[in-house]
Amino acid sequence: MSQYWSPIVATLSPYVPGEQPKLQNLVKLNTNENPYPPSPKALQAIRAAASDTLRLYPDPASEGLCQAVARALGVRPEQVFVGNGSDEVLAHAFQAFFKHEGRPLLFPDISYSFYPVYCGLYQIEHATVALDEAFGVVVDDYLPSQGRQAGGVILPNPNAPTGRALPLADIERLAAGNPQCVVLIDEAYVDFGAESAVALVDRHPNLLVVQTLSKSRSLAGLRVGYAIGHPALIEGLNRIKDSFNSYPIDRLAAAGAIAAIEDQAHFDRTRLAVIATRERLAAGLVELGFEVLPSAANFVFARHPAHDGAALAAQLRERSIIVRHFKRPRIDQFLRITVGTDAECASLITALKTLLN
Ligand SMILES: *Cc1c(COP(=O)(O)O)cnc(C)c1O
Repeated sequence: MSQYWSPIVATLSPYVPGEQPKLQNLVKLNTNENPYPPSPKALQAIRAAASDTLRLYPDPASEGLCQAVARALGVRPEQVFVGNGSDEVLAHAFQAFFKHEGRPLLFPDISYSFYPVYCGLYQIEHATVALDEAFGVVVDDYLPSQGRQAGGVILPNPNAPTGRALPLADIERLAAGNPQCVVLIDEAYVDFGAESAVALVDRHPNLLVVQTLSKSRSLAGLRVGYAIGHPALIEGLNRIKDSFNSYPIDRLAAAGAIAAIEDQAHFDRTRLAVIATRERLAAGLVELGFEVLPSAANFVFARHPAHDGAALAAQLRERSIIVRHFKRPRIDQFLRITVGTDAECASLITALKTLLN
């Protein structure tokens, strides 16, 4: 507390990111980073961009990057907004679309924990909607009923931290059933096995789809994310962005991101490797008695009926293996385990075998 703070500062409960330990030789399976390096072409482009031109401001509209995203996804550049990581894109979307008096923003009770943080920052009314017993999203619970209308809907697909995916028909029902508000689908993990709602944006002017280069493009350190939607939504985001920071994408990030997006072969090779390892990891955990939710992401969410989640996470840590544990209702017995390399996942399984005995 400080007398100098604006009053809202004391009321905030900031997001707590997964730990980034300074220790060496850890098996780090806690923040859903990709275990494979980024495209060599992206690294080359970043090196080439590290030149005298850094003297100059970057393009405030990031036109080249918007065009690359548009080409890759089969949309028009005016349907693309880019930001400094998808977290920034999400933050701008919360401020641009979700603040409506008397109409709460809806999101699942178990979901990305940044959503309530943005609600606190921007003073957005919100209500959580319970996932079902199997941690699935019940679409009907997000549709207007008895005069109650949402001021917005946001959910990750696949969901985090459960890994469960919704089919496209359900996403379409969400968008079509809530024409009065923006329905935002956060596709941070979509490339690991879910269907992208980008295919629906031409039919639904209220649908906004957000993706990131952090997970499936191995570029969490570069900070690039983007949104796809109707040009009117993109204009709303640009109005917020240009009232906040004209240059969120620096020259190095733009160059690396464009090259990464254009390297389809590297993208497919690495994401398919992650998917294959995920299936081996899930099978290994099941063999050890874990219940593993079906995952379409680059992590699995698993609990053991006879071993406490927090205790297991702590014991793994003593063996230099870091996984994520959330001390939250309904999920405090689960571990969220990022899919690493095959060798890293094998070390995890070996350690668990010892611990469970
Ligand atoms: C990782 C993640 C993000 C944020 O990604 P950045 O682009 O690195 O900011 C957004 N949403 C969800 C659900 C995530 O898991």
